[in-house]
Order: sequence, then structure tokens, then C-alpha cells
Amino acid sequence: MSDELRFWNMPVEYLKGVGPKRGEFLRNECGIFTAGDLLMYFPYRHIDRSKIDLVATIRDDQPYVQLRGRLSNVRVIERGPHRRLSATLTDATGSVELTWFQGIRFFKKSLTEGAEYLIFGKPVRLGKMYSVAHPELERTTLGSEPQRLGLIPLYSSTEKMKKSGLDSRNLENLIRQAVDSIFFQFSETLCDHIIAQYGLCSRHQAILGVHFPPSLQALEKSLYRLKFEELFYLRLKLLRLNWSRKIEKSGLEIPRTNNLVKEFYQKHLPFPLTDAQIKVLREIREDLSSGRQMSRLLQGDVGSGKTIVALITMLSVIDAGYQACLMAPTEILAQQHYFSISDFLKALRIPVGLLTGSTSRAARQEILTALAEGNLPLVLGTHALIEDDVQFKNLALAVIDEQHRFGVAQRGKMWQKNTVPPHILIMTATPIPRTLALTVYGDLDVSILDQMPPGRKPVLTSLLFQSQYSDLKRYVEGEIKNGRQVFWVFPIIEDSEKLNYTSLVEGYEKIKRDFLIWNPVMLHGRMAAGEKENAMIQFISGVSKILVSTTVIEVGVNVPNASVMVIEHAERFGLAQLHQLRGRVGRGAEQSFCFLVASNKLSREGRERLQVMVSTNDGFKIAEADLIQRGAGDFEGTQQSGMIRLKIANLATDQHILSDADAAARWLLNTDPYILKTENEMIKNHLRNLDKSGGFWRNIA
Ligand code: ADP
Ligand code: MG
Repeated sequence: MSDELRFWNMPVEYLKGVGPKRGEFLRNECGIFTAGDLLMYFPYRHIDRSKIDLVATIRDDQPYVQLRGRLSNVRVIERGPHRRLSATLTDATGSVELTWFQGIRFFKKSLTEGAEYLIFGKPVRLGKMYSVAHPELERTTLGSEPQRLGLIPLYSSTEKMKKSGLDSRNLENLIRQAVDSIFFQFSETLCDHIIAQYGLCSRHQAILGVHFPPSLQALEKSLYRLKFEELFYLRLKLLRLNWSRKIEKSGLEIPRTNNLVKEFYQKHLPFPLTDAQIKVLREIREDLSSGRQMSRLLQGDVGSGKTIVALITMLSVIDAGYQACLMAPTEILAQQHYFSISDFLKALRIPVGLLTGSTSRAARQEILTALAEGNLPLVLGTHALIEDDVQFKNLALAVIDEQHRFGVAQRGKMWQKNTVPPHILIMTATPIPRTLALTVYGDLDVSILDQMPPGRKPVLTSLLFQSQYSDLKRYVEGEIKNGRQVFWVFPIIEDSEKLNYTSLVEGYEKIKRDFLIWNPVMLHGRMAAGEKENAMIQFISGVSKILVSTTVIEVGVNVPNASVMVIEHAERFGLAQLHQLRGRVGRGAEQSFCFLVASNKLSREGRERLQVMVSTNDGFKIAEADLIQRGAGDFEGTQQSGMIRLKIANLATDQHILSDADAAARWLLNTDPYILKTENEMIKNHLRNLDKSGGFWRNIA
């Protein structure tokens, strides 16, 4: 075994300064088992302690100051029940107060008046003077160099760890000792070509430099290298998965007969397709006739016209004598698809079934039989479609609408509905920034509808406060009198355990009082199916002008005459969700409006977030902003999508590194698809090691 491997695999408690007790904490609290794990425990950031501030130049917006001065006036101050320890630190330009609220006895004993200290902490202005609470401090002797200057790493540690002597500073010491005991070079995991092409530092330099960088530039280079490596292997893995699926998984070859499709184009197409729709249909057509299984994600903003793309795709499969199905995430949506699609299909003489949780037993049995015997070419529905007893004679295509509600596992279940797995078309209106699409949906091909049907007027969005209700009321009345309809949305508030509909119900009562003659109706997920349907019918038919609801209308509901969207407690929604909701209006010829009603006590961050909605209608821009503001971990849908956990790269802020890593991975697969060249051997080995250890892509394969 090489020195490197021996070191890497050494149990962490064998390291100097660790021992069995701390070893146990490291294992249980941070998953650090070996010396290698410890080195891979990266600092979450560094603080720059390379320079010493002067008291006179401290600014309010400085997150930290480092001061060097003489300590005086150490005393305990009591105010009522509150005690604190206070001391004064004075340099050549002025004085600050140092305070301690805890450990008063200890610090009082250990601080030496008249001695010189180097202190570090957050300055807070109190009147004319700055105060630093619980500073880090180090006693220095006049004229000598303090020990902890330069870039100091900060490591996260849990309360439990801190209590047993494993705070950031202790971890730093342990890692420094581990690093000091290394007398070999860490081996390289990337080939020379990539290292040269992207100007990467060596892996050895990067691992040491990410903990103890000699300079800010060195830190940046180390970080870049480690993030690049992480993203490179992630992309490599995904690209190879996609590639092998294409080679290995054959699919049904759908011949281009196109009788139905032609008839549809010539006689029933309700509008000319947009260029984007034509482009996407061509990409799909290519997949269907390739003899390989299609797994394609169709991304298109709300209202970009995904349904017609799905319909034409289904027609071309049916044309060739196969069956198709379309699965929607909610019953309301499935029904809506059924209504809009069955109109077309009637004209084309194609029978279509609807299968949901509330389909009656008899009807269900009839549909199941027809599907199994091949007498029903098309079925629409909800999750009910993936149940085991739903068997097809020759299913060739499954369209999944609004994919973010479905997990990867459910996608997989569709594959088993035919001996040759059916082609899969996933449609989503959740615009996913490129970065996330590359990782979350890395194993799919992606088509994008990046163009809206013509004549759409962008929705005008304004931010209001609850106190402006009477203005809002007047405005809404005006729109209704002009013949428009209104969506009025309330959040469901999650009380510790149960879902709280109070806000919705109270809101509904108020709206009913104020808009009585317009027949407001209420809709939420807990209502019985019949009640829901009734409410929807009232609204769609125009009997009711106002639909008061929760986010059940978020996805897909299409009522072109509705041109006003009011969203109460808008600050409680994510940006992606607000965008989805807003997409419910702006579907007709009229100018549409969206009112975001915020709490009067809106925070500054909240206002900034909502301002994004006011400033743009572009779903991709909104998704980017959402990603940056909330971080990738939170990003809507990433949980269900089997999102990977990255160790050092951040998908929100490291997009440029991801593009570099992606390009490098593609280059490798183009020049050495099986990774057989000797100069790429380290890559092959590292891939194997990552596979063995599970690593960050545990959830992908
Ligand atoms: P989404 O992508 O959100 O599912 P839909 O498929 O529901 O969007 O389409 C939104 C609306 O736009 C529908 O009323 C649809 O009939 C209409 N539409 C779709 N494509 C076009 C087009 N090329 N020209 C005009 N209207 C279109
Ligand atoms: Mg849709």
C-alpha cells in the first residue's frame, strides 16, 4: 500500500491530538472516519486576518475587525438581573469596548490589564464608541509577530462538538497537524490535458491550499480546482449514463406514416405553431424514429404551448398503431386535458379514456379491458395510470405533464408498461436554470420552448400591502364589470403539524361579503372531488367571477377569460410558485394583472424577492434569482428529483465552473469514450473509486 493510501485510510483517532473520545465525535457528528475524511472536511469560509485595523477607521458595515491594543478597565457591570464583563482596548487612534456575557468569571481571571492583545470580532456601534462582544483574542508581546495572522479557515461544528472541545479552532489545529504529518504528494485525479486547458493547480496543492492558503489567490485556485473536480466527475457520470442508455436501451421505432397527423395539421390545427413548437416537434420526431428509447424533458414556461406538442406527439404514435398515455399530477389537470384534447380527438375519430382516482369501478374496468386488448389508443389520467393493474397492449409513449410533482421512481414505473420501454416525454413549466437541469435532469435530453405564442401581452405585476385592500377591491370590481374573472389565492399555512386553512377560509368569507353579486367560489385540495368539480364548473362557465383558492390552481388550469390574479401573503410563496400562479392569467387577448399582496411588515429581503416578480415575466430569470436567493438545496422540486449532495461546489454560485467542467467531460467522452487511453487512466480509477464509495451521486443511478 502506498504512503498516500495508508494515510488516507488511517482511522482518524490515530492522528496526533485526536484520540478515541474526539474520534467518536468526529465519526458521529461529521461522518469523519479516516484521515482522508478529515482533509475532505473543508472550511466553509476563511476570514482575512492579514491586516490589522485601526479603531479610528472602523466602519459600521465592517463584518469583522482585527485590532491590536492595550487592555484596561476590566470590570463587571450589573444592570438589574443582567451581568456582563467589560474591558477597554486602546490603540494609537482610539478605544473600543470588549464585552462578555458568558464565562465572566473565567475571562475576568485570565485577562491582564496593561497587556497587549490582538482581538478579532464583529464591531457594533454603541453611541460614539464601538463594542465587540465575545472577541477572539490572543495576547501578544510588544513588537513580536502574532501567531494567527493571514487567512484563517472556519469549520462548522455542532453545539455538541463545541462543548467537548471541538470548535472551529480545534478542528483547524487537528487538520494542521494532519497536514504537517504528510510527506508525500497526493496523487492526481485529472489528466494533464484538462489540467493545462483549464489552468488548474495540482490536487495536492488544492487540498492543502483550501485549508491553509498562503494568499487569497491561492485560496481561489484551490477552490476552483476542487469544485471543478467535483462537477467534472458529476457530469462525466451523467453523460455516460445518458450515452449508455442510448446505446443499450433500444426503443420502438415509430414509422413516419402521419395520416392522422397530416389530417390534424390540415383540418384541425387551431393556430399556426410557433417556431419553437416546430423545432421541438422535430427533435421529438427524430427520437421516435431513431430506434432508441426517447427520454426527453420538454421545458417551457407557463403558456408556451406544451399541450399541443404533446398532442401531436401522441397522434404520431397512435398513427403507427400504438397506444399513448398522458399523466397529470392532479385530478383537475387531468380533467382539463381530457376536455381540451377530446374535442380534437372526436374530430379525428379517436376514442380516449380518462382514468383517475375517482373513476367509477365499472368505468375503470371497461378502460382497463380496452387498454389491454388494444381498443383504446389513448388514455389520460393521474397517478392511477401507473398502478400495476393498468396494462397496455402496446404502449409506445408516456407523456408526463408537470414533472416536478412526480419522482424519478414513478418515471421508472412507466418503463415497465411494455416489454420494450415506451418513449417518455416529460413536460415541465418549472423553468430550471441550466445548471440544475444539467444535474437534476442530467440523464435526460432537454428541449426548450423558448417562445410564447404570438399576441400575448405580458402580465403587469404590482406589489401591494394589506393596508391597500380598498384600492385593490375597487380595481377588481372594475375588471369584473368589464367582463373579466379573478383568481384570488391564499397560502395554506402549516401549523406545527396540521395544515391551517384559516387564512383561506377567512379570506373567502370577506370576499363573499364584499363581492356577493359576483358569486365567489372556494377551491382547495381537501374538498371532496364532487365539490371541487362543482366549483371549477361554476368558475369556468362564468357563473362565478371569483375563484378563491389555495395553490391547487398553480399548475395548468386554463381559463383564458381570467385576467386578474391576486396573491395574498405573497411573501410566503417561493418565486417559482408565484411565477406558476401568475401564469394562470395572461392567456387571453386582454391585458392581465397580477397583484402581490404582502404583509405590512414585509422584510427587506422579502421586498427584494417580490420585486423580482414585479420586474420580469421571464421564468428562467426568476428561477435563477430564486436559485441564488435560496440556494440549490431548497430549490423547488430538487428533493423529489433525487438531487445530489455536493461537497464543495455550489450550483447557485458556481455556474461558470460547471460549464467548464461540463465542457471538459464532453471533451473526454469525445476523444476517449471508453476512457482507455493511458493518459486518462487516473480518471478511470477515480471513477471506480467514487462508484465504490457511493459518493455524492448515490441517488443518480
Ligand atoms: P402550457 O405550456 O402552459 O401547458 P398550453 O399548452 O396550455 O400551455 O397553452 C396555453 C394556451 O396557448 C392555450 O390556450 C393554447 O391553446 C394556446 N396556444 C398554444 N400554442 C399556440 C400557438 N402556436 N398560437 C396561439 N396559441 C397557442
Ligand atoms: Mg400545461
